[in-house]
Amino acid sequence: MKLYLTFDVEIWCDGWHDLDGRFPASFDRYVYGRSSSGDFALPKTLEILKRHGLKAVFFVEPLFAARFGVEFLARIVAIIQADGHDVQLHLHAEWTDEIRPLVFPGPPQKRQHLSYYSLEEQITLLTLGRDLLAQAGCDSIKAFRAGSFACNRDTFRALRAVGILIDSSLHEILPDSGIDMRGTFDFLRPLVLDQVVILPLTVFRDGIGKLRPAQVGACGFEEIRDAILSAAAANTQHFVVLSHNFEMLKQRSSEPDRLVVARFERLCAFLAQQAGRIEVSTFSNGSVDIEEGAALSPLPFAGFPATMRRIGEQAVRRVVG
Ligand SMILES: [Zn+2]
Repeated sequence: MKLYLTFDVEIWCDGWHDLDGRFPASFDRYVYGRSSSGDFALPKTLEILKRHGLKAVFFVEPLFAARFGVEFLARIVAIIQADGHDVQLHLHAEWTDEIRPLVFPGPPQKRQHLSYYSLEEQITLLTLGRDLLAQAGCDSIKAFRAGSFACNRDTFRALRAVGILIDSSLHEILPDSGIDMRGTFDFLRPLVLDQVVILPLTVFRDGIGKLRPAQVGACGFEEIRDAILSAAAANTQHFVVLSHNFEMLKQRSSEPDRLVVARFERLCAFLAQQAGRIEVSTFSNGSVDIEEGAALSPLPFAGFPATMRRIGEQAVRRVVG
């Protein structure tokens, strides 16, 4: 089984007011996350990956750089590439009206999701994002993930038009993901549309029967371990894990969230141990094989004790912070 550790890398300025005033502190938090105990945004993420000998996929959001300068994007690309990881394209279309000159004619208007843009507009945004990453030092984009997973059917036509043929924008649990494709396509397993190979975010059934995304900040270590082992045992081909550049930080702070840090450490140690059985992979070679019959593989699952443990950890965190 191939497993992809994917990180969506993005900068936010706490709303859309005073962007230029807020950007320096935002960049510092989202990229470095400096605290007295270490830099728990990208630097600590990269350090943990390196310690366990793992390579990851970083879907980097470039549109912010059309506002503040490509040099900031170049810094992000450089620190990820220095460790030999994969830089791929992530787009948060809500930046579009903050860029000057405006990307589209007419009065600026905030449209959050990529699915709110026409096919032609999506092609324009994908091309702009890829050009910005090229200017920032990464000219080999092979894969894409829509911001907030908010793709639609046109997104795959647009990806094909620009020649990006691997995607990971489908998320079964988020209603805005693949909004006009629900009920027509299975979001739980790989599929091919318009020659684009789509690896949806892996979703598993937790120990109390609910669907959960394989996201570092959203499930316990034991749950994600169980889900990975059950998927491997069922001969699942691809397993996609989600995290973010800021996922190990407490909300609105640069202090580390110790619970998430410990989970990520344990997940990486586990994956390093399982190296013979589970290949932690990237999209850098530009191709993903999907076997016949993959559509029939059962959903991964976690056991009851693993889910109870996560619920217990969350309860403790609510009390002690
Ligand atoms: Zn995002």
